[in-house]
Amino acid sequence: MSNITVCARFRPLSSKEERIDDSSVCIRRIDTETFVFKDEKEEDFTFSFDRVFYEKSEQADVYEFLALPIVRDAVNAINGTIITYGQTGAGKTYSMEGPGILVCDETKKGLLPRVVVGLFDTLNRSDGEDIKYSIKLSMVEIYMEKVRDLFNLSNDNIQIKESKTQGIILPGVAEKTVQNPAEALQSLSRGIANRAVGETQMNMASSRSHCVYIFTILQEYTKHKRSKSGKVILVDLAGSEKVEKTGAEGRVLEEAKSINKSLSSLGNVINALTCGLPGKANHIPYRDSKLTRILQDALGGNSRTALLCCCSPSSLNASETLSTLRFGARAKHV
Ligand code: ADP
Ligand code: MG
Repeated sequence: MSNITVCARFRPLSSKEERIDDSSVCIRRIDTETFVFKDEKEEDFTFSFDRVFYEKSEQADVYEFLALPIVRDAVNAINGTIITYGQTGAGKTYSMEGPGILVCDETKKGLLPRVVVGLFDTLNRSDGEDIKYSIKLSMVEIYMEKVRDLFNLSNDNIQIKESKTQGIILPGVAEKTVQNPAEALQSLSRGIANRAVGETQMNMASSRSHCVYIFTILQEYTKHKRSKSGKVILVDLAGSEKVEKTGAEGRVLEEAKSINKSLSSLGNVINALTCGLPGKANHIPYRDSKLTRILQDALGGNSRTALLCCCSPSSLNASETLSTLRFGARAKHV
């Protein structure tokens, strides 16, 4: 029943973390799946995941392990979701985009540009005589439980609906049909730039909203008038850090509550999926947040999910790292 892959990734120490005297690296590698984490009280915790990417890991390795199986299955009409989780500064966006979405350095490219190339490659290879395909891209941001279209910022309160034939849909959201990887990257970079514009307008930090990239792959058999479609959704989550309860007030507190609610509902949905008894219909609380509702038909069922828990390796961030690792561990086994 476990179609979920959970990985941890440690970025290199930042220059700030390196400068601070009493900081140290709080993880000790055992192998590619297991490491020992030392908390602030010098207590050891052993964690195992499907794969652990250490400081020197390559972007290509993360893609191949985590995303490539999902890309290949999307072409067989199996939906998939790839999620980056972790505190602000832990490497979520670096893993998703790389240092920039249009960066030319092949080794630094993140998951998004690789997914784009992977989807077109797989489709071109499976391209039979009588099959036509198209890829559509939508980008939305979820902030304070409101869904905004990143291709059309004035469309800032998108509803989430369920259709019998198409599954979860976002009526009115812009869908860019992309013909090749270059067009897809152009659209992605436009959406990312719009996101920054919207954030400046609203005086909001990107770390406080979830960014959702939705690729819909449609394949039509021209002779038989049949078609099949699959979705790949990538989610760069809002920072999971705890906001100091005392002191936070007004919007900061409301933002924190909203993020906390959606991240915990994501955890609850994943848990309900992984510990569900076969043959027994258990309730999956998709409707508890906009995030889980958007992911409903790409999370669970026969879809595939990959969760990348992004962490700082520094003892300075030990308590947030421990909470990220626990989120991942809870998503995995049960
Ligand atoms: P987040 O999106 O989780 O807030 P970022 O992805 O923006 O964090 O990463 C914070 C900083 O660390 C950025 O300057 C980024 O370039 C750097 N960084 C993150 N992961 C890596 C990595 N694996 N290798 C090199 N630099 C990284
Ligand atoms: Mg980020």
